[in-house]
Amino acid sequence: MTSILFENARIVDGTADEPTEPMQVLVEGEMIREVGKAVSSTTAQRIDLKGLTLMPGLIDAHVHVVASTADLGLNGQLPDALITVRAFKLMGEMLRRGFTTVRDVGGATSALVAATREGFWPTPRLNISGKALAQTGGHCDYRGPYNDEPTRRNGFPLGALGRICDGIPEVRRAAREELKSGAEFIKIMANGGVSSPTDPIHFLGFSVEEIVAIVEEAENAGTYVSAHLYTDKAIRRAVECGVHSLEHCNLITSETAKFAAEKGAFAVPTLVTYEKLSSEGASMGLPAASIAKVDDVRLAGMESLSIMRDAGLQMAYGSDLLGGMHVHQSEEFVIRGRVIPSHEVIASATHIAARLLRMEGRIGTVASGAFADLIVVDGNPLTDLSLLTKQGAHMPIIMKGGSFIKAELQ
Ligand SMILES: [Zn+2]
Repeated sequence: MTSILFENARIVDGTADEPTEPMQVLVEGEMIREVGKAVSSTTAQRIDLKGLTLMPGLIDAHVHVVASTADLGLNGQLPDALITVRAFKLMGEMLRRGFTTVRDVGGATSALVAATREGFWPTPRLNISGKALAQTGGHCDYRGPYNDEPTRRNGFPLGALGRICDGIPEVRRAAREELKSGAEFIKIMANGGVSSPTDPIHFLGFSVEEIVAIVEEAENAGTYVSAHLYTDKAIRRAVECGVHSLEHCNLITSETAKFAAEKGAFAVPTLVTYEKLSSEGASMGLPAASIAKVDDVRLAGMESLSIMRDAGLQMAYGSDLLGGMHVHQSEEFVIRGRVIPSHEVIASATHIAARLLRMEGRIGTVASGAFADLIVVDGNPLTDLSLLTKQGAHMPIIMKGGSFIKAELQ
């Protein structure tokens, strides 16, 4: 087993607003074996991190690795082989930005997860919901108003982010099928969306009874439901139904944020995607009907951050980018840093996201018993979050599971 000793490592993990004192971090195989001031090893390869910062690998809790273009209707019609190759390219780029774990909230399948685990191409760890569930006409129904062909009920293309199901028996079957196929949680579209044609933002997705049934199915399988949500009404209703992971939340009020916090829910804001959909969406293939919807949620987004923070609602990191806009994945750090202290922004991509993924102690931390998912940053991200952007340019070392993805330390 190879072992590596990182020496003089000042650790930034989002739990404090200052880096730690210089520490020794011993990696053995794919795990962190020991962290302390006096850890030593006679056999390990030594790497001196003096003047640098050591961080746990980052976690993005809202991605779509199969979203190879911003036109999601088109994406769902592309052949699986093309989507697979593009997904591996996107995941490789995520890893080289320092994201060693990503949670896919619609699209990726367990076959894709199995392919990442074979390890032929470097990717982040992939935690998946399988296909998101949406109602007829909801966010994921890309047929548009004049197409009344029936939707698929099985055999979903890899490029489809979701599947349509209506009524309690169908939503239960859809949830059970996704869980059987390897979904680690269930994603539902419980509100209108930007990228789909027939659901304005204010639309509520699914009836209360349908959402409660899906939550029951997820909880029966020992897991939780994540929901796509913008409006305050939709968010409150979802929390009342037992939804645990609240995606986007742009239009949340402080009463609802407090209620969600009391229920132990997580919010996953994804502000970078609205900035980029607004500035680059058209050139990246986003249809005109979708562009017109962006500002309905973009403008309120920044305010939602302070509302949720003040309410004590835990926030995980999310980006939700599509196609060519994925290059902006790390800019969410800088956007949030305009309103939230940087150690809290970092926490959203470390221990808070790890808790949401139910992998606390194994990812998002530099501690004994965790996977050796580590990044080295040349500078202190607590004083400059932009060190985490620029496609990993300020990360001379990226390690996943004890293997170097990048090692450019001189
Ligand atoms: Zn999304």
